[in-house]
Amino acid sequence: MERSISTSGPVDVVDVTADVEDAVPGHLDAGTCTVFVPHTTAGVVVNEAEGRLLDDVERALESWVPSTGDYRHDEIDDNAAAHLRSILLGESVTVPVEDGSLALGTWQSVLLVEGDGPRTRRFRIVVSEALDRPSG
Ligand code: ZN
Repeated sequence: MERSISTSGPVDVVDVTADVEDAVPGHLDAGTCTVFVPHTTAGVVVNEAEGRLLDDVERALESWVPSTGDYRHDEIDDNAAAHLRSILLGESVTVPVEDGSLALGTWQSVLLVEGDGPRTRRFRIVVSEALDRPSG
């Protein structure tokens, strides 16, 4: 299934955990849930949705890949930094499903990271059932 959100700035981090959790069938004992962002200037990660940390993420992205630089792609549509940040972040995450819920760690959330906003971003949620229930 596909969901969408609106991002609110050039760089933005949006907690989409609730949307992902809603997509997990309550009857699924064991499986996986993959969240895939079909964009080249946004990414998705699993980390803590703490406000100051999210500010730090935005700062780190600026440090890792500065907004302005000698980027060849900027000659085309002026968003090379967003593409490069997206490559660092990755376009998908997979979370285990147990007893009908995402088996995230206590402080983990699924975060969509905007790199070239604001705009509407889509993300796909694919839930698969495990062939064998994991032991332990
Ligand atoms: Zn581009």
